Amino acid sequence: MPSIDALADRLSTYLGKDQVNLVRRAYFYAEQAHDGQRRRSGEAYVTHPLAVANILADMHMDHQSLMAAMLHDVIEDTGIAKEALCAQFGETVAELVDGVSKLTQMNFETKAEAQAENFQKMAMAMARDIRVILVKLADRLHNMRTLEVLSGEKRRRIAKETLEIYAPIANRLGMHSIRIEFEDLGFKAMYPMRSSRIGQAVKRARGNRKELVNKIEESLSHCLAVDGIEGEVSGRQKHLYGIYKKMRGKRRAFNEIMDVYAFRIIVDKVDTCYRVLGAVHNLYKPLPGRFKDYIAIPKANGYQSLHTTLFGMHGVPIEIQIRTREMEEMANNGIAAHWLYKSNGDEQPKGTHARARQWVKGVLEMQQRAGNSLEFIESVKIDLFPDEVYVFTPKGRIMELPKGSTAVDFAYAVHTDVGNSCIACRINRRLAPLSEPLQSGSTVEIVSAPGARPNPAWLNFVVTGKARTHIRHALKLQRRSESISLGERLLNKVLNGFDSTLEKIPEDRVQLILAEYRVEVIEDLLEDIGLGNRMAYVVARRLLTSDAEQLPSSEGPLAIRGTEGLVLSYAKCCTPIPGDPIVGHLSAGKGMVVHLDNCRNISELRHNPEKCIQLSWAKDVTGEFNVELRVELEHQRGLIALLASSVNAADGNIEKISMDERDGRISVVQLVVSVHDRVHLARVIRKLRALTGVIRITRMRA
Ligand code: MN
Repeated sequence: MPSIDALADRLSTYLGKDQVNLVRRAYFYAEQAHDGQRRRSGEAYVTHPLAVANILADMHMDHQSLMAAMLHDVIEDTGIAKEALCAQFGETVAELVDGVSKLTQMNFETKAEAQAENFQKMAMAMARDIRVILVKLADRLHNMRTLEVLSGEKRRRIAKETLEIYAPIANRLGMHSIRIEFEDLGFKAMYPMRSSRIGQAVKRARGNRKELVNKIEESLSHCLAVDGIEGEVSGRQKHLYGIYKKMRGKRRAFNEIMDVYAFRIIVDKVDTCYRVLGAVHNLYKPLPGRFKDYIAIPKANGYQSLHTTLFGMHGVPIEIQIRTREMEEMANNGIAAHWLYKSNGDEQPKGTHARARQWVKGVLEMQQRAGNSLEFIESVKIDLFPDEVYVFTPKGRIMELPKGSTAVDFAYAVHTDVGNSCIACRINRRLAPLSEPLQSGSTVEIVSAPGARPNPAWLNFVVTGKARTHIRHALKLQRRSESISLGERLLNKVLNGFDSTLEKIPEDRVQLILAEYRVEVIEDLLEDIGLGNRMAYVVARRLLTSDAEQLPSSEGPLAIRGTEGLVLSYAKCCTPIPGDPIVGHLSAGKGMVVHLDNCRNISELRHNPEKCIQLSWAKDVTGEFNVELRVELEHQRGLIALLASSVNAADGNIEKISMDERDGRISVVQLVVSVHDRVHLARVIRKLRALTGVIRITRMRA
């Protein structure tokens, strides 16, 4: 039974007398506050905070953390206010206790969203003091150690949360020992059968291999002794959850994993690590490609060590980790080791654990600038979960998205309908492009319009599978209905030339042709025509009886309304606008491309009735059409502004403007202007011409 006296004895090995007394005082305060309360196991409640403090003492944490550990459930469970703790133990300890209480109140019921939310709160707590997390981890560890007494469902919930949230955080903070224990205890609670079966198998395997392990250990120790190196060789055991994850994730057999013999060699200084490496490589052949120097390049969480794999006797693989005692400390306790070194009065971080401390220092520095904690939360979040961004809905709900996600991904994550009808977005209340990658901590608001449709260009920047699938699906539906309607118009246009329409064709004739083309319904055939995969002309001939061999050559043109959507596009080479004489070119799979009648790109195809169709503009054609103008004018001050205001005065819209100066006096400006039709264009040109110094205006065509 651990007691406060025993703890005080241990603490006095690394804390001052006053500090130990403060921890004692916190203990007695907690004992009184929790008086009469019992744990589920029947023990007095204060045994729990005492155990939590003991865990932190193992990591040589400072006295304030230990005091907070003693008091961590006081606010939550006894109704004593934070202010009272503040008066008794000072602001820092009260803040720590308050932070831990807030973390404890978190509810982890729904999955991803809750994780993000929890994380948010954790980060908030960290922003004030990272020791809050350490106390919370120790609290969770003791609860995991005493999980047995809880009911099955509660046990599983806590275990799951530990595996999903606390173990990764411990890992990121470099706290290996705690992570391993979280994982094994969580595994046991979640999957008792699997855990005990693997446990038994491990025990059996270790029994069988004991002799060989001893032999290898001896030969390694001997090898060091021969070279006059002092080092501690020990066998390493894989933890159950690690074995399970390997078996499941990498689909390896149990024996394959167990047949690797793992050792660790602890030495005094960095230099020795490399000497040991040389010595063991001399003893057994190293496996190529397996050597890793985490001393020179530490892992992101500060972990440092040399790793190598050797072919031992009879070819058994031996994994070896070589590191200094400090690195070992860092590997086990991670960020907590910071306080150990701090209490040793080691001021300048150098050599071995400089990198690890760098990270800690960064975190600590950031929390000192906690006035604005948003920045801090962001960087810590990115550190802990580098592949995710967290953004807020306008109502404050947290959405978790993969890194690089845009407002469109966000919209689809909220709801498919929101995605499909989205037209713009506000990021942090400012209008932003839909393609802008979201940053953690932003608030994203989607502007949607009824009847809006997904834009094919979105596919170039969305990153989530959900957004991609839904955009594709919506486009497919849209394209199909648009192709069908264009196909129908194309077909009817040809049929009209024979004084017929699709409706006048007898049903049995239609069915016969459908069978001939191997399509089920007439819509499929029309879609094919609209997409340019089949010629309306040929289909029309098949639909009419064979005596219609003679085709009239002077069919009326098909009218374009400007609302055909995805199956109709305007050629970039000649940019036709309403009022221009136009032809349509059907290209397979793409639908119809509208060119100017005299466009050079189309000249060869123009008289091929299967490829080209005479088009006209419908009376009620709508939309904006771009044309490119080239304006030559005398160079003058503010000339861009003059041009812009002229175009504007004619209700035109400048889409693009670029200028090159021909010589000192003449400038050539290229304008892309959007207009409704030719009449509108003429108005724009008239306005431009009225400017002083304008020499020539030309409409550009390929
Ligand atoms: Mn607790």
